[in-house]
Amino acid sequence: MSEAQAPSARTRVVREAHRAVYDRETAYRILDEGFLCHVGFTADGQPFVIPTLYGRSDDNLLIHGSAASRMLKNMKEGLPVCLTVTLVDGFVLARSIFNQSMNYRSVVVLGKAMLVDDPAQKLEALQLLSEHIIPGRWADVRQPNERELKQTSVLRLPIEEFSCKVRTGPAIDDEEDYSFQTWAGVLPLEMKTGELIPDERLLQGQKIPEYMRNYSRKHQAEG
Ligand SMILES: Cc1cc2nc3c(=O)[nH]c(=O)nc-3n(C[C@H](O)[C@H](O)[C@H](O)COP(=O)(O)OP(=O)(O)OC[C@H]3O[C@@H](n4cnc5c(N)ncnc54)[C@H](O)[C@@H]3O)c2cc1C
Repeated sequence: MSEAQAPSARTRVVREAHRAVYDRETAYRILDEGFLCHVGFTADGQPFVIPTLYGRSDDNLLIHGSAASRMLKNMKEGLPVCLTVTLVDGFVLARSIFNQSMNYRSVVVLGKAMLVDDPAQKLEALQLLSEHIIPGRWADVRQPNERELKQTSVLRLPIEEFSCKVRTGPAIDDEEDYSFQTWAGVLPLEMKTGELIPDERLLQGQKIPEYMRNYSRKHQAEG
């Protein structure tokens, strides 16, 4: 994809522009594999970048909880935000420190986060968010009551103005550095699950849900 196809001037990747991707398919694959984002916003002239969970529902991102509440403290009419999702795929060890790099896939979404305040829409958004993170869990837990719903803020960010950046492959050294005596290559990085730890107060007879046995973010992205 060329730079010219960025959805807007402010989402045009400048450095290493050949790594920019602006199509929804790529963005959604990254967003569906991820579950943790960093939301940047300004409040009282101070920029904040807060890590928080998110879910994707069609062309919208959903965030909830106290981060959302805080962001909304002084604003009900939509808050300009920058939401970033990063998947790290490897350390790239080059022969020069200058060309040291990382393999990654990232998405930046700019826009106005809107409050979801209709109770039915809010409940639906919470379910979508939960299903994005652990599909199948919503049906297995107690549903939120009115008090809990009141305590939870949900924000919706339309995925309209966005960019992706993707780096894959080996180190790219300056030609003259290929004769430098050192190891070079890639250390792949991936997120792995560990052994399940049953809760100490688990009621007798509770079986491990199937969706936790083979949990994988890659499967999420593949649908
Ligand atoms: C894990 C990781 C490590 C990185 N480490 C470094 C580093 O050490 N040094 C460094 O210079 N860069 C690093 N980058 C790249 C960095 O994210 C920026 O792409 C880079 O700083 C160049 O930004 P720019 O000047 O082109 O764009 P900016 O002017 O900063 O941004 C312009 C627009 O480009 C888009 N954009 C920029 N970066 C990204 C991105 N990563 N993903 C999606 N959209 C993007 C956004 O829409 C943004 O609004 C790293 C990226 C990742 C994911």
